[in-house]
Amino acid sequence: MPIRRLSAHTINRIAAGEVIERPAAAVKELVENALDAGARRIEILLTDGGITRIEVIDDGAGIAAAELPLAIERHATSKLGDEALVEIATLGFRGEALPSIGAAARLTLISRPAAQDSAWVIKVAGGEITPPSPCAGAPGTRAIVEDLFYATPARRKFLRSTSAEADAAERAVWRLALSAPRVAFRLVSGEREMFDVPAQDEAARVAALFGRDTAAALLPLEATRDGVVLTGLAGPASLSRATTALQSFVVNGRPVVDPLLKMALRLAYRDVIAAGRHPVAALRLTLPAEALDVNVHPAKTELRFADANGVRSLVIGALNRLLAKPADIAAPSAAWAGGTTLTLRPPAWQAPPRAAATGFAEAELAILSPPSGRSFAPPAETADYPLGAPVAQIFDTYILAVAADGALILVDQHAAHERLTEERLRAEFLEGRVVAQPLLVPVVVDLAPIDATRLLDHEAALARLGLEIEAFGPGAILVRAVPAALKHADAAAMLRDLAEEFAESGAPVALEAKLDAALARLACHRSIRAGRRLAQAEMSALLREMEATPRAATCSHGRPTFLRLSRTELERLFGR
Ligand code: ADP
Ligand code: MG
Repeated sequence: MPIRRLSAHTINRIAAGEVIERPAAAVKELVENALDAGARRIEILLTDGGITRIEVIDDGAGIAAAELPLAIERHATSKLGDEALVEIATLGFRGEALPSIGAAARLTLISRPAAQDSAWVIKVAGGEITPPSPCAGAPGTRAIVEDLFYATPARRKFLRSTSAEADAAERAVWRLALSAPRVAFRLVSGEREMFDVPAQDEAARVAALFGRDTAAALLPLEATRDGVVLTGLAGPASLSRATTALQSFVVNGRPVVDPLLKMALRLAYRDVIAAGRHPVAALRLTLPAEALDVNVHPAKTELRFADANGVRSLVIGALNRLLAKPADIAAPSAAWAGGTTLTLRPPAWQAPPRAAATGFAEAELAILSPPSGRSFAPPAETADYPLGAPVAQIFDTYILAVAADGALILVDQHAAHERLTEERLRAEFLEGRVVAQPLLVPVVVDLAPIDATRLLDHEAALARLGLEIEAFGPGAILVRAVPAALKHADAAAMLRDLAEEFAESGAPVALEAKLDAALARLACHRSIRAGRRLAQAEMSALLREMEATPRAATCSHGRPTFLRLSRTELERLFGR
């Protein structure tokens, strides 16, 4: 076939495949246009998740009648001069969205700049244009998209279920609404009004869209590095979700789904929340236009940061500081507040009282400071110690302590110690002072060959952790030295664990992150086991160290290390 130019319509259909992959993408483009037009209020109505119909109404600048045909023409945009591609301040700029939608669906654009007497309407269906004519309409723009992909059946086949498409479209609007709190948004999907939020400040918008209870637990965050400013709200370790649905990233005003930012968030929380759980955060980055390329993908949700490492460190650093404050131990709370929030209900009254009595008999209460008939009053010096003074050890596993305000504290000695060991190793590692303890007799560990290879790939890095290994034939590794802090640990178990850790974290995880995870794994191997009796001095030391250690409210697996029962909670339990 000879070389020919593609017709405009064909080009638009091809672009439609890239820009408008699914209804959510069309919704996003239309709402972005409304935002770019300076709308104060945007209303979005979806039928069948947008497959059947999308309507976006704004009160923005509008499009003059004479310019309507241009608006639907490919690469026609009011937003970008040829010289300005590096400094893109608007959400749209490629001039591709409307022509692409017009190629794949029936598009009706009704628009009226405030100064124009009446609105005008233009229609495009499968690339066929109906020229503009006057019609009724308020100032602003109304875009209606019907039967998306009716003109491109191949694309239509790739659509998922109506509910999946609705979910994606709703999320797209949710993200845009988070990115522009000063603009009022109303979203109706099918019969349901999903939200109707007024112009508000950022915190109020997050509260409206994340849910008030969740938002109340979020902590503010602010950090700057090399001209990049990070602000926003992020949850404490105690707040996690089964999915990443409550995570929002806005970069230079643009909502993004960016793998780098997602990963940074994941890494920052990875050892304070349980595996498979996800943090909650609404983060906003602002950086100089030249430090960012948004023109990576037609949908403009992917970015390229000029200094990806700098951005990653900024985000992880700020979140680490937020999570590291030992203060979350001291945080006043009426509920059992360790790393987790438990809802306590009054005991079922019908439960036979003997059950409780039996439970206590088994509890092996080792009273350390016999209260001799008087109520136990914590020593005066515990006033500064949120975790109080140890009173007893239960099941040789939990430390029972009383805080200065009388609250009852229960500490899981193994979980707590594991976190302390991990933090100590991490501090040594970061300061480059991990001490390796050579083994008198090197240990040979047999592993699956793939695991052995994986570990040997990181031989040098592991040496920085104090773990000196070398190849010892297929699937075998010789361990010459272990971190001094772990000299009594079982080297074979340690290596197997590490291999598993490296396998899990997969390729895209940076080595630093792997090592960090490795530290957490190693820490498990030295920690005080549950079931070991502790002397009072040991218990005190453990409590004091917890108070001074970052992230001590949860163990490396994200479980709480201690629970706190205040007077109010006790009274509630007793039904007083
Ligand atoms: P882009 O947003 O990349 O410029 P679009 O195809 O999305 O390309 O839109 C083309 C042009 O139509 C825009 O540049 C803008 O001038 C105009 N336009 C589209 N939607 C609106 C709207 N809701 N209000 C005002 N003008 C709009
Ligand atoms: Mg646009």
